Amino acid sequence: MGRSPDRPYLRRPRVRPWLIGHWEMWQLRGSVVVAVVLVCGAAALLVGAQIVPLRATGRDVLLTAALVLLGLVHTEIASKVERMRRRVSESSYYDLSSVWTFAAALLLPPPLAAVVVVALYSHLWVRVWRPAKSRLHRNVYTAAAVVLATQAAHAVVTGSGGAPRWTDGAAGLAVLALAVVVYAVVNNVLVVGVIALQEGSGPEPHGRVRHLLGKVDDIALEIATLSLGALTAVAVVLNAWLVLLVLVPLVVLHRADMARQLEQRAATDGKTGLLNAAAWHDKAERALRRAQRQGAAAGLLILDLDHFKSVNDTYGHLAGDEVLSAVAETLRAEVREGDVVGRFGGEEFTVLLRGLEPTSAGHRQMELIAERIRERIGQLAVAVHTPDGPLTIEGISTSVGAVFDLGRTCTLQQVLGAADAALYAAKRDGRNLVRFGPPAAPTHAFPGRPQA
Ligand code: GH3
Ligand code: MG
Ligand code: MG
Repeated sequence: MGRSPDRPYLRRPRVRPWLIGHWEMWQLRGSVVVAVVLVCGAAALLVGAQIVPLRATGRDVLLTAALVLLGLVHTEIASKVERMRRRVSESSYYDLSSVWTFAAALLLPPPLAAVVVVALYSHLWVRVWRPAKSRLHRNVYTAAAVVLATQAAHAVVTGSGGAPRWTDGAAGLAVLALAVVVYAVVNNVLVVGVIALQEGSGPEPHGRVRHLLGKVDDIALEIATLSLGALTAVAVVLNAWLVLLVLVPLVVLHRADMARQLEQRAATDGKTGLLNAAAWHDKAERALRRAQRQGAAAGLLILDLDHFKSVNDTYGHLAGDEVLSAVAETLRAEVREGDVVGRFGGEEFTVLLRGLEPTSAGHRQMELIAERIRERIGQLAVAVHTPDGPLTIEGISTSVGAVFDLGRTCTLQQVLGAADAALYAAKRDGRNLVRFGPPAAPTHAFPGRPQA
């Protein structure tokens, strides 16, 4: 069905309603299902093959029980923080139980390390992930990936001659460091790989990989947790009671991590996941000053969706919010990793473009970026649920005000004023247009947009 004239954005999607009820089951891509089956199968087969030749001592069994018990106590102490942490950040895959699973990898035969993993992850599922509405298959997969990581780390330790080599001197440190790296790599490759399969390849693969791997802070947290796991294992060899001392820094790590994620959340716009206005302003100001110091050119775009009120009036505010999310996703996808994208206000977005050439070629480059963004937004087809049923909203357009080469002295506020005036010119000239303003004039105050 084409667009209906009274509802310019309307197109009914070809969706059979009976499929929607089963959507959850089918939303996993085929390649993801294969990956999940392969990884879980490999973990089960590997452990299964090791059970028969296993010769566990009484000490091994005791140690297994102790690590499980410590892990359970840890989860209980930290579960409040951890539950909140997961609600705050969906993108963090690192849970701190690797202290115990990594220690198990170093100290125990692999099947017993697998027992520690399964016990801790079952408990985490019941106490943390299920209440946070996480999906079971995700957590089974995570546990299987951890089992494979413990196998790999154990292979490093036994390959280096086994205990007590890894508790002795600089060579011991090297073995432990290698085991940490191998554990982290196996675990991350498996988890990040399956998420990349599920999300598919985006327009900017490098940015995607970086997004999936997480920020430096996430990696530092993982290394810190595994280092605590290594110290736990060494403590067990020296004096098992020392292990209790690990619990204190572990709880502090949880709290420090949550504070970091709350900070992130405070800077994020809840509807679109972009930087909110205040955070965008801070970040863009820093980026602008850096560009000015380096003599590089920067550019600023302000976008205001055209006649957005009519989208809300026709389909409701929830549908309008879906459109805002889709526009935000487009903006993220169309600019480079270092560019600063924010939601400025209602349906207004700002982008600071960095690393442009300070020549007419840079100006041309910016024109192309701005035009491409405008066109991509125009091509969006946003599937929404309305009281009338599922619909696709199309024909969204945006006006863009742009300023190139922000000069060596002007402030962000002045640049915003100049870009805002250019945006008004785009609206006045008929909308769905990009208009460039002159480099910021220091006298221009913001927000001083004349009203249409
Ligand atoms: P134009 O910009 O082309 O002049 O027309 P417009 O209808 O887009 O006008 P304006 O930019 O002034 O409209 C802003 C509208 O954006 C008003 C409000 O209904 C809508 N809006 C602002 N914030 C939100 C939001 O968070 N969600 C939704 N759904 N709508 C929002
Ligand atoms: Mg507006
Ligand atoms: Mg508007």
